[in-house]
Amino acid sequence: MSNPSTFLTNYRAVLLPAILVLISACAGNKQQLVDKQEVKFAKSPKNIILLIGDGMALPQVSAGMYWEGGLEKSVFAQFPYVGYHKSHAHDDLVTDSAAGATAFSCGIKTFNGAIGMTSKKKECRTILEDWDAMGKSTGIIVTCSATHATPAAFVAHEDSRAFTENIAFGYLHTALDCFVGGGGYFFSKERYDHIDLKDSLRQRGYVVRDGTNFKKMPMDGSAPFMLLTHDREPETASAGRAYLPRAVREVCQYLPKRSEKGFFLMVEGSQIDWAGHSNDRHWLRAEMADFDKAIREALAFAESNGETLVIVTGDHECGGLALTQAESKRSFKPAFASHYHTATMVPVFAFGPMAEIFTGIYENTAIYDKMKLAMPIK
Ligand SMILES: [Zn+2]
Repeated sequence: MSNPSTFLTNYRAVLLPAILVLISACAGNKQQLVDKQEVKFAKSPKNIILLIGDGMALPQVSAGMYWEGGLEKSVFAQFPYVGYHKSHAHDDLVTDSAAGATAFSCGIKTFNGAIGMTSKKKECRTILEDWDAMGKSTGIIVTCSATHATPAAFVAHEDSRAFTENIAFGYLHTALDCFVGGGGYFFSKERYDHIDLKDSLRQRGYVVRDGTNFKKMPMDGSAPFMLLTHDREPETASAGRAYLPRAVREVCQYLPKRSEKGFFLMVEGSQIDWAGHSNDRHWLRAEMADFDKAIREALAFAESNGETLVIVTGDHECGGLALTQAESKRSFKPAFASHYHTATMVPVFAFGPMAEIFTGIYENTAIYDKMKLAMPIK
């Protein structure tokens, strides 16, 4: 007779993904989307769009869904495959965004604060750097500064996320095709060392501009670019920041013009996390709505393109958000248990070729492994 605990483990391994697919298939037009995948999409992806909601786990996804008007109106209902990742860092059950993003970019668990570095303080090559070396085009779009933890972990290697001015050099060492986001200061002569990184980038052929106007950028694919939307951190979505969905739409058209071999695009809804730290439900609602629009742009591209895998996840939960009973029985009242991140599991939504490999429960590092499996590095 087999060991009961082994049986349970095996049973779970088979049953859990099946349940998750079944749950997915029960929602709205999901079955139709699964069928559409089988018919329409390529066997494996040529492009990957990874959208990270910083500080976005199941509570934030649930709140966003209710705020959008329920499951049928939620963008998350459009994903036929759902899984969960365990977000913990190398030596800490509660991760920060640096270790969380390094798990995605390098496929390793590292210590909190580490940017593209192993737990033994050795540089780890990022998946963006690998795909870049293969000749694929690469892009990063965020609603924080370029030197913030999540984008940094894809292009830079530092022991501490606090070394923001050093992190900016990562954009010179990685041949990124485009960046859209804040942090212009870190590339300007105002830096502590007065090195004009905008000038260095221009010498390497980049078009570098401040603001959010895509009309002045080389969207025909003739040059790499950095569109520095703000000098420091961009304003909140509720204060009028609106470039994220537009940037996803524009960059999805631009990156294929930069390489015939495909592309990798990382998009971050950065301020979902900051709203959680501030326990600010209005801020959170506006950021979730903004991220929702960005995801819709990625899905629209993937649907028409047929060779693009879209993955949406978060790096960790933030704020210990609970959806408690409101006075009206048809609504909820957000409550926060923390001003920091928590260890709850994080959902992973996938759409497109090989999206089915994202079902199940796994470590956050498996996101890297699965992306590599879907789009092998040669
Ligand atoms: Zn945070």
